[in-house]
Amino acid sequence: MKKEELFDVIIVGGSYAGLAAGMALGRSLRNVLIIDSGKPCNRQTPHSHNFLTRDGETPATLAAIAKAQVLAYPTVKFLEGFAETASKTENRFTVSNSDQQMFSAKKLVITAGVKDIFPAIKGFAECWGISVLHCPYCHGFEVKGKTTGVIANGEIGFEFSKLISNWTKNLTLFTNGIVDIEESNQAKLLAKNINIVEKEIEEIVHENGVVNHIKFKDGSIQILEAIYARVGMEHNTKIITDLNIQLNEQGYIAVDSLKQTNIHGVYAAGDCTTMMRSVSDSVAGGSMVGAMLNKELVSEEF
Ligand SMILES: Cc1cc2nc3c(=O)[nH]c(=O)nc-3n(C[C@H](O)[C@H](O)[C@H](O)COP(=O)(O)OP(=O)(O)OC[C@H]3O[C@@H](n4cnc5c(N)ncnc54)[C@H](O)[C@@H]3O)c2cc1C
Repeated sequence: MKKEELFDVIIVGGSYAGLAAGMALGRSLRNVLIIDSGKPCNRQTPHSHNFLTRDGETPATLAAIAKAQVLAYPTVKFLEGFAETASKTENRFTVSNSDQQMFSAKKLVITAGVKDIFPAIKGFAECWGISVLHCPYCHGFEVKGKTTGVIANGEIGFEFSKLISNWTKNLTLFTNGIVDIEESNQAKLLAKNINIVEKEIEEIVHENGVVNHIKFKDGSIQILEAIYARVGMEHNTKIITDLNIQLNEQGYIAVDSLKQTNIHGVYAAGDCTTMMRSVSDSVAGGSMVGAMLNKELVSEEF
């Protein structure tokens, strides 16, 4: 075990939310360690949209510019690696990484995002972010009017199809099994020419992530140009359970309007706190964390 380093704040996850927190804290003269394993959830998407000044930029470019600007502040240190565990004593948090290094800080930030859990459909993962999309605000404009499918079921399937119909009138809902939507809502979909297909999906047939068609288990196919899907998620870090950080009903880290968790001194922002995933929301959340944490430190030191 190597010697422990002490910081004002440790940030677990150095993508959009973590870097935004790092920038606010660095500009507040705080000694910050950002630990990041370099796997943002949007890494496979060719272009990121709907973020002012950077619309259509690649995720890698966004991250590189952000990182360069944050690391220009000399009190911010960036460590590539995975934060494995965390513990809390009366007035400090200790984090260990996969290299068995130990780091301590007065405050802790969780901006570790989430891991998307895909349905057991061949080709789904390869198309994720390229032609299988999670959000119309991020990618809807680019596939407007195209022959589009929604893979979802239940009332979420209904609501998602309703939303996507804003971008295309050529829409089919694939429930991948028996439909589980109220009959009145099924009728509303059909009235808008949104067909419901209950056949089980075997594969999304694609070329380099660009969908060509869906192949069903009965051997039939349906040609498509774009797909939206609702997927599951799990947290990227067990630090949440290490510290007994409370989750909300949807399974995200529960934070108040100032991004504070139930554990004093632990803040969180970005995708690990909300299903409303966007770069702008993550940056805004991280920025709020930075300001609130600095305020808390100032109050404790004053
Ligand atoms: C396919 C796809 C496409 C998208 N397209 C858009 C778009 O066009 N426009 C838009 O606004 N939004 C888009 N989004 C949403 C946006 O990418 C997310 O809202 C945003 O990336 C969330 O930022 P974050 O910092 O919370 O988490 P992430 O960006 O997911 O980053 C989390 C970081 O934490 C690191 N990490 C995790 N656990 C640990 C650990 N224990 N130790 C150290 N590091 C750790 C990860 O490696 C990663 O670098 C897209 C999302 C997806 C999935």
